[in-house]
Formats: sequence, structure tokens, C-alpha cells
Amino acid sequence: MTTTSTPVEIRHLIGDEWHGASDGTTFESRDPHDGTLLANVARGTADDGAAAITAARTAFDTGPWPQMSPKERATILRAVADAVDEHREELAQLETRDGGKTISQSLHAEIPRVAHNLRFFADYVSMAANEAYPDGDLLSYVLYPPAGVVSAISPWNAPLMLATWKIAPALAFGNTVVLKPAPQTPLTANRFAEIALEAGLPAGVLNVVHGFGGEAVAGPLTSDPRVDRITFTGSSATGVHILQAAALNHTPVSAEMGGKSANIVFDDADLDVAVPMSIRAIFGGNGQVCLSGSRLLVQNSIREAFIERFAEEAAKLTVGDPKDSGTFMGPLIEQRHLDKVAGYVELAQEEGGKVITGGERLTGVAHAKGFYYAPTVITGLTNESRTAREEIFGPVETVIGFDTEDEALRIANDSPYGLAGMLFTQNLDRAHRMAARWKAGTVWINTFFERDLRLPFGGEGISGLGREGGQYSREFFTEPRAVTIRLRK
Ligand code: NAD
Repeated sequence: MTTTSTPVEIRHLIGDEWHGASDGTTFESRDPHDGTLLANVARGTADDGAAAITAARTAFDTGPWPQMSPKERATILRAVADAVDEHREELAQLETRDGGKTISQSLHAEIPRVAHNLRFFADYVSMAANEAYPDGDLLSYVLYPPAGVVSAISPWNAPLMLATWKIAPALAFGNTVVLKPAPQTPLTANRFAEIALEAGLPAGVLNVVHGFGGEAVAGPLTSDPRVDRITFTGSSATGVHILQAAALNHTPVSAEMGGKSANIVFDDADLDVAVPMSIRAIFGGNGQVCLSGSRLLVQNSIREAFIERFAEEAAKLTVGDPKDSGTFMGPLIEQRHLDKVAGYVELAQEEGGKVITGGERLTGVAHAKGFYYAPTVITGLTNESRTAREEIFGPVETVIGFDTEDEALRIANDSPYGLAGMLFTQNLDRAHRMAARWKAGTVWINTFFERDLRLPFGGEGISGLGREGGQYSREFFTEPRAVTIRLRK
């Protein structure tokens, strides 16, 4: 596949063959910057989903993959990672055209993280220790056999990075996978699958089907009893459907879902750090990031001065063609999402909010054909407003003031979500006190978005169910088994 303007055909990978949809239907994938048709994509049916599960089941039940030693699997995953590095430029261009992510982010963050996901879990599985419990004449130990067939369902906002955050551990621990990428961003999943097969991944171990979640293809992925694990990243609303479907077969689900994270700035913070980090925390990735710091809580003693500086920086951000290396924010993913974001800014004003900067679609020559929205800062709302409670998933920051540490924590925790939190202060005691009481899967202090893949990743409340990362991924993608032997004297 190349990045020329000729649209490509995107098919399902089932076993070692590329198939169109069983009923021949397709849908289009277009560039959100200018509407160029990039691909005609197989629109998965229930039969397609079932066929992919059959291929994954066969590869698991009769193929070599689950029987290989961790070292052998790790060698193949490292070869795939090397191949991803070799194709970094190509994969980055595809990601940027398909989803509007800036090229600097695709090239320097997302695709390198794809390779890192693979290498990290190759290393982990090679080095992980299994526990043993000698107890007199009893010896007990723990085995971690693979769970079986994994359905991996991923979103559009970090397509290949999040798909491989699932695929890499699932494969490393010996499972086989059916991946369903988001319909908005199907390109890199297929190119990755081609690269992985060329690099030595056995056929059937990774299968890819395309289509819309609410439609037929999703049925088998979430409710077929031959599926042993479902790993899902997406919205909290979709998570409910997936959990309901999975419950029929008691299939374990790991769900990484939405967020409405608080970013708290105290008056003792180093503002030369807090301002640019806070800008990145909401406008990086166009606010289409689950971890975005979309509620900015600023201590009242510095609130006015901080907002002025923050809004000034927001207004200066370069919004435009994501293929340009100097662009900070590209287009939103699609028209429907642009309408949703614009609708929330209207709602914010109806709720009494004041738009300090932004608050409009961008329609100039550079933006005319794309789904562009200006970086937006809103003040004057309380944490009870819908704007502050619901996930907008766009470049919209709601600023709320507070006086004390307790008040900041109360506001931060007063949310149905609980994915992440950021805190800027120079008071070490306060930082640790707050981290201990924060209802969030991840807390960053004087930094943002640093990820060590050994750490548990996930959320509280409607942000998540379970954790992945390092040992947490091992627990989810395996069936830990207790073995006890009585030793004869
Ligand atoms: P989405 O829930 O609409 O879709 C996610 C995936 O689920 C897609 O592949 C979609 O086709 C599929 N899907 C939809 N309905 C389904 C169903 N009934 N059965 C099976 N699959 C179904 O989410 P999105 O709009 O693609 O992504 C944005 C959301 O993802 C945001 O809420 C964001 O916060 C969240 N997200 C969370 C994390 C995290 O790690 N917590 C990371 C990235 C994105």
C-alpha cells in the first residue's frame, strides 16, 4: 500500500487470506483534512466475524503459536517491531492521512510506540518470573497458560498504537487475535498485518476484520462462545454494550474507556512548566485523547493571570494540514464529531459559560475542506455543568477555580469518570497526599502523558474495567493456574 491519491481496497485478513465482505459491501474511508477518498473498506458481516474467530480458534487449537516457548514468540515479535521501524515513515503517513493526527505525532510518538509495545511485551514474556511456594512437603507454583482467542476492539484516536497495545501482550502470552479497528481508521491495521506476516508471524495468529461496531461484525466478536477474552478501548457507552454481550458467555472483558480528567494547578506551581503542559494536556491530539486534562482547575489566587496566559498560548497554536511538520492540531476525525464538539460549545454558553478564545469552526482556505475547530477555552462554569461532566473529546477546555486542596480534590473526584489526573505544585507533601486520594487510574505530578508500560493502565468509574500493562496484562491474557504437588520423603 502507498500513500498516493489512488484509493486502496481494504479487506479482512482471515487466516492467511485477504477477503472482501461476505456480502460484497464496502464503506469509504476519507482523509479528514480534505475529504480525499483513501480506501474502500470491506464492511464486515456476522459471517466475516465468525470466520475470523474460526481462523483464530484453529491457529490456537492446532497451530504452533501457543506451544512455542516465550523466547520463540518474543523473537518473532521483535522481528515485527524491527519491520515496523523500517516502515515507520509509511505507517506514519497512513495514520496521519486516515485520522488527521499530526505527522510529527505519528512519526515521533505513535509509530515508535507501536514498535515499543511489541518489544516491551517480547521482553516481558521472556523475563517474567512464575511464583513458586515451597511449604514443607508441598510445592506449589503458578502457570500462566494463554487464555485462547482474543477479540481486540480498538478506537480511531490512536489507531495502531492502541491496537498493538492489545495485540502485543495477547500474542506474547500465546493467544491468537481477531482485531477490529475503528471504521474511521482502517489503514494502518492492514498494513501492520501485512508487515507482521512478512516478518514471520504465523498465519491465523492475527486476523483483522473491518466494519461498524453497532453492526453485524461486532456480534461474534463480543458474543461468540469461542472467544476467550475481549479487550476493548472506546467510549463508555459502547463499553456497556460490549459488557452486556460478553456476559452471556461469562467472557472476561478488559475495557479502557472515556475520561474527563482534572488538571489541577496550584499557585505554587512553576508556571513555565504548568502552562505548556496544560496546553498539551488538552490541545495535543486535538483533545481527542482519552487522557486529556479537559477540566482545568486553577487556584483562585492565580486564576485570572493563568487563564490569560493559557488562552494566549491556545490562540497561538498552529491548526492546519496534519501533513505539515509544523502543525500542532489537525482536523477532527469526522463531520459528526465536529458537530458534537461545536454542539458542546453552544451548550456551554447556554449553561452560562464564557468563551475566552476559540469557540468556532475554522473555515478559511487552509481549513475549508476539513473538520477543523479552534482551540477553545471556556470559563464561568461550575463542575455541575454538563460541559464539565460529559466527555467532549475535542479541543475544548473548561476552567474552574478553587481555593483549597480539599476543594480541588473534591471537584476532581466529582465525576462519573476516573481515568487520569494531573497536578502542578512544588509542594511534595501535597502532591503525594492528593495522589493517594485521587479517584483516577493514573496521576501525573508536574508532568503529563508519561507512560511506563510496566504500570497498570486503566480507569475507575465509567472510565474502565480492569488494568493492562506489564503483570496486569499477563493476568488478563492468561489463565493463571495453581499447581500443587506433594513431595514424597
Ligand atoms: P467507540 O466506542 O465509538 O468505538 C470504539 C470501537 O468499538 C470501534 O472499533 C467501534 O467500531 C467498536 N464498537 C462500537 N460499538 C460496538 C459494539 N456494540 N460492539 C462491538 N464493538 C463496537 O469509540 P471511538 O469513538 O472510536 O473512540 C473514542 C472513545 O474512546 C472516547 O470515549 C475515548 O475516551 C475512548 N478512549 C479510551 C482510551 C483509554 O485508554 N481509556 C484510549 C483511547 C480512546
